[in-house]
Amino acid sequence: MWSKEKKEGPMVLLVGPSGAGKSTFVDRATSDFKNLVDIITYTTRPMREGESEGHPYHFVSDEEFKQKVKRGDFVEWAEVHGKCYGSPRDQIEKAWEQGKAVIMDVDVQGAKKIKQEYPHSLTIFILPPSIDELRQRVIRREGKPPADLELRMSNAVREIKEANAFDRQVVNSDFEVAYSQIKKMIEDLIQKG
Ligand code: 5GP
Repeated sequence: MWSKEKKEGPMVLLVGPSGAGKSTFVDRATSDFKNLVDIITYTTRPMREGESEGHPYHFVSDEEFKQKVKRGDFVEWAEVHGKCYGSPRDQIEKAWEQGKAVIMDVDVQGAKKIKQEYPHSLTIFILPPSIDELRQRVIRREGKPPADLELRMSNAVREIKEANAFDRQVVNSDFEVAYSQIKKMIEDLIQKG
C-alpha cells in the first residue's frame, strides 16, 4: 500500500530486456487507463529513426545529464548498453499530486533501485518467449541488426536470470494474451487505492 502522507500513488514498473515489448505495453495501458501516466525518462543515447524529443525519451547531452544527476533530479539513473538513462522525480510526484497512477519502462537495475525508494510499486518482468525470438524482434524493430546486438543479447540473458526477483512475470509470446494479464494487474493495483 502506498503512503498518502508522503503523497505517493500507484506505480507500475515494466522491467525486462530491451526488445521484450515493454514500451508497446506501456502505450496500450496508457490508452486504456486514462488516469495512468507514462513517465518520460531521460537518455543520452542518440535518437533512432521514428523517434523525436519526448517520444519515447527526453534526449539530452552527456553534460545536461550530468547536471541533472548533480541536482538530484532522478529517482535513479543507470548505464544501459553504454548510455545513461534516468527517471525524473518531478514527473512522478506531479502525477501523484494529481491523483494519477504512473507507469515506467526501466531496466533491471533501475527497477530494483526504484522499488527500494517506493516499496509499494508493482514490478512486472516481461519475458521474451526465447532469446532467439528476442534477437529477431530487435532486428525487426530496428530494420537491421544493431551494432550492439550481441551486447544486448548477453545483457538480456543476465537480466532474465533475475526475473524471479520481481513481483510478477509475464511471457510476451502472444501480445494480446500477455497484455490481458498486465491489464488485470494494473486494474487490481489501481483499485487497491
Ligand atoms: P532503449 O534504448 O532500447 O530504448 O532502452 C534501453 C533500456 O533502458 C530499456 O531496457 C529500458 O527499459 C531502459 N530504460 C529506459 N529508461 C530508463 C530509466 O530511466 N532508468 C533505467 N534504469 N532504465 C531505463
